[in-house]
Amino acid sequence: MKITDIKTFLMMAGSPALKQSTSWSKRNWCFVKVYTDEGITGLGEGSGWPRVVETAINDLKPIVIGEDPMNIERIWQKMLVSTMGAGMTGTPGSGSMNAIDMALWDIKGKALNTPVWNLLGGKVRDRIRAYGHAKTPERALELKERGLTAVKTGGVHRTVEKVDAIRKAVGDEMDIMVDAHGPPWFTTKDAIVIGKALEPYKLLFYEDPVPPDNIEALQRVQDNVDIPIAAGERHSHIWGVRQLIEREIVDVVQPDTGRIGGISQMMKIAAMAEAHYITVAPHSGSLGPVAEYAAIHVLAAIPNALILERVHDDVPVRYDVTLPHIETIDGHIEVPDRPGLGVDIDEDVVLAHPSKGNTSRPGTEGDGDYESGTFDEHVYVQSRYRRQKTMGTSINSD
Ligand SMILES: [Mg+2]
Repeated sequence: MKITDIKTFLMMAGSPALKQSTSWSKRNWCFVKVYTDEGITGLGEGSGWPRVVETAINDLKPIVIGEDPMNIERIWQKMLVSTMGAGMTGTPGSGSMNAIDMALWDIKGKALNTPVWNLLGGKVRDRIRAYGHAKTPERALELKERGLTAVKTGGVHRTVEKVDAIRKAVGDEMDIMVDAHGPPWFTTKDAIVIGKALEPYKLLFYEDPVPPDNIEALQRVQDNVDIPIAAGERHSHIWGVRQLIEREIVDVVQPDTGRIGGISQMMKIAAMAEAHYITVAPHSGSLGPVAEYAAIHVLAAIPNALILERVHDDVPVRYDVTLPHIETIDGHIEVPDRPGLGVDIDEDVVLAHPSKGNTSRPGTEGDGDYESGTFDEHVYVQSRYRRQKTMGTSINSD
């Protein structure tokens, strides 16, 4: 079998006009189809700045066309070496390789008439636990009533009060997670103070308490806060998360299934993590449905799968473009048994949503409860602008 062509399918997946019940910034999904001379087509997705990823995929085409798609590792290494001269390409580079790698696994599964999870070692489990997102106790309760057993909330502003309200609303049966989003708006000390105040709530994890770039800052949080620490969503390849795992700076590693470098890299990272008793909870907050399917196959096959991030009710196009869409039932997603990844996209839906930009303001008036007029001038220091007010009165409760 030979690869004959690669096509990209870039679509607008989030904007104020498309939003349903939660406020997403401008967002794109970049799907890819890899075609072969035997009529089998593989589907993949690449994240990490999708409009740039699309260009990178087109640059990789001559490297990949003509190869036997069954030789996934060989093609992956060829793509890596071919981009060395571009320098450290970050997530646009790994995202483009990710999309092609994912499509190759899909082709291999279809060619062998078996699901991707079977190629990865077989199933450890038949369904994957998923969590949803809640900004308010009301939303957390709604998700609980829909069967979800875990919920994550953003931890930027008055985090402890928010978690306290959610815990009171949902009780002890539901797991709660906090994502500080790796901000420039917490100092390391802020992240430790908030983390210590969150300890009594027995969170499943405390995610990206500080930005991912400075590993020593994250180490300080790990050393001072007794909550499992999670990070990894912004990194590329096994090398991007190597120190987080080897130094046990994280308890939960969160590779993004669209930009870490593909299913091949996900499996290697899971094995590295397993040796350190670290669990895997793939990031999915900005991903489309194809990468979500890929994460389901990986989590089905690895022993140290913790939970899958899953965006519920964000934009109707998520449901329109995915063939078929898998529901979250009783807080879990059934692992599909169809050959390959078991998912396709509706190309007409992609065409109906052309990309119109991919960047957003860091925040807008009314977002995040910050004080009027502070967004432009305090974007880096908002949490230190009236620090008590931002961090919350509950910080001093005892
Ligand atoms: Mg996150």
